[in-house]
Amino acid sequence: MHSRWSDAEAERTIARYAQIGINADVAVRIYTTRLLGSDPLLVLHGGGNTSVKTQAQDLFGTLQPVLCIKGSGWDMGSIEPGGLPAVLLEPLRRTQQLAALSDAEMVHFLRSNLIDANAPNPSVETLLHAFLPHKFVDHTHASAVLSLVDQADGRARVAETFAGDVGFVPYVIPGFRLAKLAAAVVAQSPGIVGLILDKHGIFTFAETAREAYERMIALVSRAEAVLAAKRVRSLVPAVLPQPLATPEAIAPIVRGACAGLAPPGDDRRVVLTFRSSPLILAYVSGAELAQYSQRGVVNQEQAAIAAAAARGRARCIQVSGACRRRRIRRALRRGLRALQRAPCREQDQA
Ligand SMILES: [Zn+2]
Repeated sequence: MHSRWSDAEAERTIARYAQIGINADVAVRIYTTRLLGSDPLLVLHGGGNTSVKTQAQDLFGTLQPVLCIKGSGWDMGSIEPGGLPAVLLEPLRRTQQLAALSDAEMVHFLRSNLIDANAPNPSVETLLHAFLPHKFVDHTHASAVLSLVDQADGRARVAETFAGDVGFVPYVIPGFRLAKLAAAVVAQSPGIVGLILDKHGIFTFAETAREAYERMIALVSRAEAVLAAKRVRSLVPAVLPQPLATPEAIAPIVRGACAGLAPPGDDRRVVLTFRSSPLILAYVSGAELAQYSQRGVVNQEQAAIAAAAARGRARCIQVSGACRRRRIRRALRRGLRALQRAPCREQDQA
C-alpha cells in the first residue's frame, strides 16, 4: 500500500473549495478522506470515518471551534462538505467528565450541537474523535488490520507488528465508553501515532492531513507485510470432476440465474468475464470453498449481530442481500447439477 498524496492535487482541492467558502482545513480533509475511501483494502469491510478540528461561523458571525466529522449516509470516496457536519467542539469534550452516556442521549446531544440543524447525523464515533487532541483523525476498518485483531491472540500480534507506535484498545461497542477508553490509552502514551481497536479497526492522527493519512498507509502496510511473511497456503484442493466444464458452458447458467432475479420489466442482462490466476484457481478449487467463501473479516457490527443472535435477543436478523445471495446460490446449484447430468456438447465432441 502506497501513499497517493499529491501536493498539487491537495492545493487544487483547497483552491476549488475556497471558491464556495469552504476553509482549507475542511477542503484538505475532503481530499484525504476521498483518498482513504477510494481504497477498498481500507474501507471495504464497514467503512470508517474522518474528522478535522477547525472553526466555523455561528449565526452571529462568530468563529467557533468545531469538529467536522463524517456524517452518516456519506461515502468517504465521494465525500463533499455536506458530508462533514460541524459540531461545537467544547460541549463534545465536556462530556468526557460524565460517568455514562447512553447511545440515545449521545445522538441527541450531537444533533443539538450541530452548527447546521439540517446536517446529517454525525458518526457514532464522534466523541472518540473529539476526545483525541490531534487536529486530523483518520479511521478505517482496514482488512490487514482486521486480519490481525480478529485472531484469538490479536493483542500479541498488534504488539509484535507495531511495537510501541500504536496503542491497543480492547473491544467495546462504539459509543461513549469506547471514546473514553481510547482517550485514556492516548493519554497514557502521548507518543503514539495511532490506535488499534480490537475486532474493529485502526485510528491514526496528526496535526496535518497529510501526516495522518500517511501514518494510516504506513501502519496498514506494516500489517500487510507481517501477513504476507506469515502466509500459509492452507487451502486443501478438492477432487475436481474431469473433464471440467468450459466457461462457455457455465456462462449461460450464471447469466440465467442473475437475470431471473431482475424485477419484472427490467431487461438488463449480465456480462461475465472469467479470470483464472493460480491464486484464484487455488481458492475456487478448495475442498472447503462452500464454507470459507461465505466468511469475511469480522468488524464490530458483525460481532455485535453475532453476539445478539447468540444471546437470543435477535429473533429475526434480516441482512439485506442475504436472501438474494441464497437465491443466486440455489439457482447456481440447480444449474450446475443439470450441467453434471448432461456434460456440455463441446466436451463430448473433444
Ligand atoms: Zn469504526
